[in-house]
Amino acid sequence: MTTVRVITQPSCADASDASSLSVRQARQAIHGALRPIDSVEQVPLRAALGRVLGSDCISPVDVPGHTNSAMDGYALSGSDLPADGVREYRVTATALAGQTIAERCGNGQCVRIMTGAPMPPGTDTVVMQEQAEVLDDGRVRIDARHSAGQNVRQAGEDIAAGSLVFEAGRFLRAADLGVLASLGFAELCVRTKPRVAFFSTGDELRSIGEPLAEGEIYDSNRYSLHAMLTEMPVDIIDLGVVRDDPDALQQAFSQAAALADVVVTSGGVSVGEADYTKQVLEGLGDMSFWTLAMKPGRPLTFGRIGTAMFFGLPGNPVAVMLTFHQFVRPALRCLASGHWPQPLIVEARSRVALNKRPGRVEFVRGILEYDAEGRLTVGPSGAQGSGILTSMSRANCYIVLAEECAGVADGELVRVEPFSTLL
Ligand code: AMP
Ligand code: MG
Repeated sequence: MTTVRVITQPSCADASDASSLSVRQARQAIHGALRPIDSVEQVPLRAALGRVLGSDCISPVDVPGHTNSAMDGYALSGSDLPADGVREYRVTATALAGQTIAERCGNGQCVRIMTGAPMPPGTDTVVMQEQAEVLDDGRVRIDARHSAGQNVRQAGEDIAAGSLVFEAGRFLRAADLGVLASLGFAELCVRTKPRVAFFSTGDELRSIGEPLAEGEIYDSNRYSLHAMLTEMPVDIIDLGVVRDDPDALQQAFSQAAALADVVVTSGGVSVGEADYTKQVLEGLGDMSFWTLAMKPGRPLTFGRIGTAMFFGLPGNPVAVMLTFHQFVRPALRCLASGHWPQPLIVEARSRVALNKRPGRVEFVRGILEYDAEGRLTVGPSGAQGSGILTSMSRANCYIVLAEECAGVADGELVRVEPFSTLL
């Protein structure tokens, strides 16, 4: 396995660390270690939403299937349009969507036509009804502003029969299902979902519904992790909370690795006294214990237990979500599809000055919005401590401050990674 092995003692000190691994190096190491899923299954079209196409999709038909009108109006031959002045035409028939007309339209004739109706024989042009004058005797007067071929959708102009519609590995979205339905696909071949097992570690953690003793907290990471996994094409296995006890941890890691393709845990990867995770993991598989040049979320364990990939995320609730977004989510997408996704980055004006120390990437939870002049602006979503999860709830983006950045002035352009492309 091509992991970058950097073993250091992570600490909460802010200073950048010469032995730390950059975000880019960590992504490369993870990417290099991935073995994308290649098994496939058949599912009904509707169940394919959010799944990954398992084979290339070739169109069996033309879309549209017949040359048809893009407008309500009058169909005629383009060669019969007036070069100047006006010309009058006799209306010989009405063409409706879903019907065909056998009779040929000759010179001096036109056909009343509705949007989507196949073009009658002898016609190749549509004059929209708003631009045609209907005379008292029922004939139609058309002037010289029109061009041959206008307002007609050609058969196969969207998709030609035999052409490649979607490549294997594509994540299927709502519009894709519409396209595939227009081609008549009732079922699709999709990749099998990776199985992801996850659990939380920590003696202080209680599950919701249990009473909290002094010093105990509810396990929130399992809920944010579950929610983030739910948005992905994966099968989820929730293994609960595991105590800071070497035997319990060993058993949980082994069980998770036997059940899943990917194991994700939170907590226990820093050097706190009760953090036995490292010691146990070293005995179980090929592991790298990284200190990342990023804030928040410095410690991250990555490796393999048996055939399963392993991500040991930090315990702090914000760091869990950030490291999931930056490393686990792209890795899962790559595992599912074979492609490592590139995040959409936009530029926005910072509404405030931001302090920043060079030497690490900082991900500031931000609020991206338009100002009164319609420019994109961004500012922090509140206190940025890595335990302050409300800063993540309020945020709709990360402000990504590069390693070399030494601070941002009020009004300066910064790079922003929106959580969703629909703001
Ligand atoms: P650790 O990495 O285990 O040292 O945890 C770092 C911090 O995150 C501690 O304050 C933990 O109490 C907290 N923490 C760890 N796991 C969870 C969890 N599942 N839910 C909420 N907070 C957690
Ligand atoms: Mg812990």
